[in-house]
Amino acid sequence: MRAQPKASHFIGGVYVEDKDGAPIDVIFSATGEVIAQLHAATPAIIDKALDAAKAAQMEWAAMTGTERGRILRRAADIMRDRNHDLSVLETLDTGKPYQETSVADATSGADALEYFGGLAGSLTGEHIPLANGDFVYTRREALGVCVGIGAWNYPTQIACWKAAPALACGNTSVFKPSEMTPLSALKVAEILIEAGAPAGVFNVVQGYGEVGAALVTDPRVAKVSLTGSVPTGKKVYAAAAAEMKHVTMELGGKSPMIVFDDANVENAVSGAILGNFYSSGQVCSNGTRVFVQKGIKEAFLTRLTERLEGAVIGDPLDPTTSFGPMISEGQLNIVMNYIEKGKEEGARLVHGGERIKGDGFFLKPTVFADVTDDMTIAREEIFGPVMSVLDFDTEEEVMARANDTEFGLAAGVFTNDLTRAHRVVAGFEAGTCYINTYNDAPVEAPFGGTKASGVGRENSKAAIEHYSELKTVYVRLSELEAPF
Ligand code: NDP
Repeated sequence: MRAQPKASHFIGGVYVEDKDGAPIDVIFSATGEVIAQLHAATPAIIDKALDAAKAAQMEWAAMTGTERGRILRRAADIMRDRNHDLSVLETLDTGKPYQETSVADATSGADALEYFGGLAGSLTGEHIPLANGDFVYTRREALGVCVGIGAWNYPTQIACWKAAPALACGNTSVFKPSEMTPLSALKVAEILIEAGAPAGVFNVVQGYGEVGAALVTDPRVAKVSLTGSVPTGKKVYAAAAAEMKHVTMELGGKSPMIVFDDANVENAVSGAILGNFYSSGQVCSNGTRVFVQKGIKEAFLTRLTERLEGAVIGDPLDPTTSFGPMISEGQLNIVMNYIEKGKEEGARLVHGGERIKGDGFFLKPTVFADVTDDMTIAREEIFGPVMSVLDFDTEEEVMARANDTEFGLAAGVFTNDLTRAHRVVAGFEAGTCYINTYNDAPVEAPFGGTKASGVGRENSKAAIEHYSELKTVYVRLSELEAPF
């Protein structure tokens, strides 16, 4: 097996196997080849992981933030040193081109470890003076054991985006990757141990949805952070709410990107490509509803289709490849069904729309024009390389249409009118907005959605609020009076 790990799970600082768990075949989506075979966590494995995380938490939280931060920053350095090997593994795990994984996955994970490692020593409460010398102080305390559950599109990044703020605040973690991409999180766990994290601080268990569900409902767990679809998010949120657990929900979207007549067409086309075809369109924040003002519609479509001819589709391990396969045959079929619906409902196919023959799960980058708001492809998250181009006349009209969705993850605008750009962004019902760019996600900036797209924020100082809580301590220095 090309990418077989030492064992399926990483618990208490070591690899652990239990072959009684349901088998998980890891498939390289460019060839259909099975590259590793793992097992889902049994109840005994889940128990062991939660026990390990619980046992490690007090000791980890008792270290100074500076000490915890040093370990996280050391882990970031190791990840950067091994970027090539980690990127190859990520490409095998996800099928995403090495051209992408070498700059956007382990590197993004390392950024999160470095950033939160840097913040760890400065996480404090505050002093609040009261009358007569009395005062209140707050302690910023860890929540306890945090469960992370990941989607399959950015396995290394998701593991680190959840682990880094959790660990910086003194929590410990059990992470369950998607069963389709189980490999990279194990490497993150290995690296954290190598960097000096005590055993049990970050654990990885594999499995399908039921393993995630068992983690979410366990009383040892204080917080759940999920990256996944809206239907799964609703289930996980409800299960966590039953025990009043903290949650962060990073869910799906159907985000609008608005291109006004006065926009730089070349930049707008770049934004539409970045916001629809990076990672073969398997990105939650993608701007898949591209509203183009009528005056530049044809110019936009012409340049877009010309530039799509430049996509290099093929072996994702080849550094010249810029467009890889879908994660799985199942996902490819879901996307093909949406393409059929788009045609049936009268959208005009202007590029792609077909599977590429072979053993891999390749699909051409696809663009529909003349899409209307009621079409299925304009309403539902496709999670594949399918762009819908819609026409509009006025700003007022397009804003109402852009916001007419249950989702609220991201939104973007391309215009050279500075005033309009800020007005439009203020009007978007979305958590993450872009002006003349799309899909940037630096660790310094909060990331997350509104409406059905999620709860809470990842990254930036905002994430600290979601991985710690304040304890308020009243201190009386003056005499204490009582009514009797
Ligand atoms: P899913 O919602 O199908 O799964 C997400 C994770 O939840 C998987 O690990 C899954 O396990 C697990 N899971 C499924 N059911 C349960 C349950 N009842 N309790 C606990 N865990 C469960 O999403 P996908 O993996 O298909 O990922 C694609 C989705 O993720 C898209 O909607 C996309 O928009 C969203 N996403 C959001 C991002 C964001 O930051 N907002 C970023 C990336 C993706 P299993 O896979 O074994 O079913």
